[in-house]
Amino acid sequence: MAVLPIYNCYHPVLRKKTQKVEVIDQSIKDIADDMLETMYNTGNGVGLTANQVGIDKSIVVIDLAKADDDENAPGRPIVMINPEILSYSEETVEDNEGCLSIPDLYDKVARAKSVEVKYTNLSGNEVTETAEDFHARVVQHEVDHLNGILFVERLSPLRKSLNKNRLRKIQKGITLPDYPMVMPDGKLVQD
Ligand code: ZN
Repeated sequence: MAVLPIYNCYHPVLRKKTQKVEVIDQSIKDIADDMLETMYNTGNGVGLTANQVGIDKSIVVIDLAKADDDENAPGRPIVMINPEILSYSEETVEDNEGCLSIPDLYDKVARAKSVEVKYTNLSGNEVTETAEDFHARVVQHEVDHLNGILFVERLSPLRKSLNKNRLRKIQKGITLPDYPMVMPDGKLVQD
């Protein structure tokens, strides 16, 4: 297992749709392991996609234990291969969101309260489940990543313009996370 650098939201790898995984072999399991370790290393991440570590594949890791009130709650890692959202609830909820590729920026995004998601797990089994509330928010955020969409693109026009300056600092590397990051030009930066 290895901690991988996380790609800045202005890197082109985060702006295009990822490739579907055809075969779940050891290399895919190794990538998922590295992604989980990378996410845990950030301290507060609850979800990460393969393109956020520069790998053009449809893989998502999620662990909602960090969001529990009990900070010693055991990890509950979920690996989703080729996830697809089948349906969205009509009811939406607005709540704060952040992203490991967009350091120190949190803002309110409206998301469906629940979604039905289909994916393949690491054993190769197809899973269809309903995710609710915070889990639904994380699934929607991560599936957006696989489609090249960032949460800041889903902000209201007013919130978008209020964040312009902060985003510029993230793009230029003035705002950096406390984990390794690959900048838009490909340069690795460690704060
Ligand atoms: Zn994100």
